[in-house]
Amino acid sequence: MIYTDTRDKTVKCDFRTAVMNGMNSATGGLYIPTSYPKLSADFLNKTIEPAFCDVAFNMAKPYVEGEIPDADLNHIIQDAYPFISKVAPIDQVTYILELSHGPTCAFKDFGARFMARVMSYFNRTENDRLHILVATSGDTGSAVGSAFLGVEGLDVTILYPEGKISPLQEKQLSTFTGNVRALKVKGTFDDCQKLVKTAFTDKELRKKFRLSSANSINISRLLPQSFYYMYSAMAVKNRCLHDSKIENPAIITIVPSGNFGNLTSGLIAREMGAPITGFMAATNANHTIPDWIATGSYNARSSVETYANAMDVGAPSNYERIAAMYSLEEVRHLFASYWLDNEGIIDAIKECNRKTGYIIDPHGAVAWKAWNDIRSGALATLAQGCKGDYTKPGLTANLPDWADAVINGKAVGIVLETADPAKFGATVSKAIGREPPMPSRLEAVMHLPDHAIPMENSYEQFKDWLIANL
Ligand SMILES: *Cc1c(COP(=O)(O)O)cnc(C)c1O
Repeated sequence: MIYTDTRDKTVKCDFRTAVMNGMNSATGGLYIPTSYPKLSADFLNKTIEPAFCDVAFNMAKPYVEGEIPDADLNHIIQDAYPFISKVAPIDQVTYILELSHGPTCAFKDFGARFMARVMSYFNRTENDRLHILVATSGDTGSAVGSAFLGVEGLDVTILYPEGKISPLQEKQLSTFTGNVRALKVKGTFDDCQKLVKTAFTDKELRKKFRLSSANSINISRLLPQSFYYMYSAMAVKNRCLHDSKIENPAIITIVPSGNFGNLTSGLIAREMGAPITGFMAATNANHTIPDWIATGSYNARSSVETYANAMDVGAPSNYERIAAMYSLEEVRHLFASYWLDNEGIIDAIKECNRKTGYIIDPHGAVAWKAWNDIRSGALATLAQGCKGDYTKPGLTANLPDWADAVINGKAVGIVLETADPAKFGATVSKAIGREPPMPSRLEAVMHLPDHAIPMENSYEQFKDWLIANL
């Protein structure tokens, strides 16, 4: 596969270069594949439930062709995914796609674990270890740290703002040992990010060490997220014959979004033939993308804090990829968009639990509520010409091509649940009056010893530490 760049179509590189560079520092653009090969009709039309790793292998293959042989790719996938995504029906036309069954209980495990193994694979031919530096405001750091733990040839240093993340998140970061360690910085998330960025531009440091990043813009995190879209859409297409008795329903995938990496992965899966009719982009009060879809102008802004804090992104990086793949008009045909404020998030968790018995986390709750609203008349109102006010929470004024299917009861929804509710116990408890059950792997972390290294918000101290310890 040849990869290009969102800002300069004359750029051409291989997968290895795209993965190891992360982003194209020459243009500031993001890497994207030059094509999205469709899976064979034979594969797509299977009437038996697909195996997750089978889907993953077939989808990854064209993107690594000529660079990672089949046997090695298969090994990477088997090693990355000892867990899978689960498709759980909660009513006749609604499926929750649970993406929280990985080690850190959030969907980022899918992307980070694949990326770690691919980087290790490409690093085998190098003499030196590769040092990954990550600044985190919470969830990304634990997914990345856990994904790289014990992976050959790689070290990870995570910087987090001491006292500014939840106690559970801090435990998930501070208890790593071996090739992954955490520095608790006396500062904010922005300070952590600045320390990392300064290190990347420090020529002396770069001469001494091979440094790399592991953030969500890396193409090797985006591609594997497309696996579960394909897997769930194929599974739902088969199951809905029994569940809803709707013939050939429209399949709508509802994605709780922040940086829009997850949703971009969904677009890749659809390009490759996943039976997904359309998407809903669902956000919290950081509604830059819903506003873009409603008004046609894209205005990045500072983020605001919400209960669904892993989606607190005001300037979503992957807007650039979406805009490189589709025109605004195409986006409007394919997407409905929706957003909720904090009060709406609490109500959504409560309502989902009351109506279905399911305990959903604050991120998934935004998606569930979006689906619930369009089934209960929000799209019909829009179709009748009532545009509403996009600056208020709810469905944004855009009528996608698939609106009639929903209005006429000929659609099923796949709601992405991106984290285990126990990771956001306080918010969930505010909504339903009790804490969700704690998965044993999260419980276990709470009892591990803390190894985080204290660090002043000082580049000199950080650099000295790197030189002494890498
Ligand atoms: C990161 C994250 C999101 C947002 O995903 P994007 O790819 O940034 O849109 C949603 N939910 C949870 C729980 C997350 O950790």
